[in-house]
Amino acid sequence: MPFAGQPATHGWLRIHAGRICSVGTGPAGSGALDLGDCIVLPGLVNAHTHLEFSTLDSPLAGEGGLPAWIARVVELRRSRSETPQQIAAALDRGLVESAAAGVTSIGEISTGAWPTQARRHGPRVWVFREGLGLSEAAAEATRRAVHRDVARLAAAGVPAGVSPHAPYSVSAPLGRSLLAIARRLRLPAAMHVAESEAEAEFVAAGSGAFRTLLETLGAWPTAAPPRLLSAADWISRLARGPRSLVVHGTFLDDNALARCARHRDRLSLVVCPRTTRLLSGGLPPLARFREAGIRVALGTDSRASNPDLSVLAECRALVDGGLASPAEALHMATVAGAWALGFERHAGRLAPGRPADLVVLRPRGPWADPYEAALDPETRVVATLRAGRLIHGGLIG
Ligand SMILES: [Zn+2]
Repeated sequence: MPFAGQPATHGWLRIHAGRICSVGTGPAGSGALDLGDCIVLPGLVNAHTHLEFSTLDSPLAGEGGLPAWIARVVELRRSRSETPQQIAAALDRGLVESAAAGVTSIGEISTGAWPTQARRHGPRVWVFREGLGLSEAAAEATRRAVHRDVARLAAAGVPAGVSPHAPYSVSAPLGRSLLAIARRLRLPAAMHVAESEAEAEFVAAGSGAFRTLLETLGAWPTAAPPRLLSAADWISRLARGPRSLVVHGTFLDDNALARCARHRDRLSLVVCPRTTRLLSGGLPPLARFREAGIRVALGTDSRASNPDLSVLAECRALVDGGLASPAEALHMATVAGAWALGFERHAGRLAPGRPADLVVLRPRGPWADPYEAALDPETRVVATLRAGRLIHGGLIG
């Protein structure tokens, strides 16, 4: 299933020096490795996650929605205060789990210095360095830290981006300076926007569940209340950069949605279906996004809000919820995800000249429709390759 043309039966592809050099159907010639009854897909793209939570066995409770869940995350962070080695181990575990789920490209949100020595043979990772803060005092320190970390990533050859956290946690001046870093360095940006219904009230009036949350956490600057921006304003600012990801967007109003559509040449929405279901009680409004003509990619979000890091399981949630066909969901998980990360010339399709990033799936029984078979819960990921190298499983047997 190359996603560059129709699925082909008896298909083959030839890999040389980490790249796909030809793709065809019929007899593959001598020296070919016969994979048997398999489905070969482009490596899956998880456009949004936070791998630091990858050691959690089960997600935190979702009762009370996003503000209550954030309070639980902060409590968790404060209670476990991990060493850099423990954080690196959690990231590594997330990378291993992702490879086992057929993922070869990840849009990762990082809250600190990314260990650039992190496993080089796992999936490709775009590290979006996150910044947040509402007080004036926090803004300058955050800007400096984000700038330092993205410069380090660039120096180490790690694809980097910038992530102002969310409209309820980033003041307008801090957001402006973070997005200026992204524009100056030609980096993509990612931001959680309109994830919760309570966000609009908070940014407009400074009241509601987020105000209570921030006061409880001691993060509300009483002396000088911050200037906050609406979702629509953030989308316009995000659209000034080379490529931006609007994460969630569940509660975008018509105005904000129209701005996403207007800037579809540089902007994608990323939906995380199972996380949205946990924290908002329903699946993302995909039909609304589709009607507006917006590009939509898929993410798992983290194990703090999701039971695993499987992009195929996110596809299944959309299909089972009647929101997308299997073909559409898999397009989101490949072609649209690669575009969202600005990597559309290299990932998301199986075509000559591209890195051999691919996943081999084996359905349990007989099958007819390859899209449906790829999403069958019984189907196994038998191998994941990045640039022609196995990062999970094996190709024989
Ligand atoms: Zn997130």
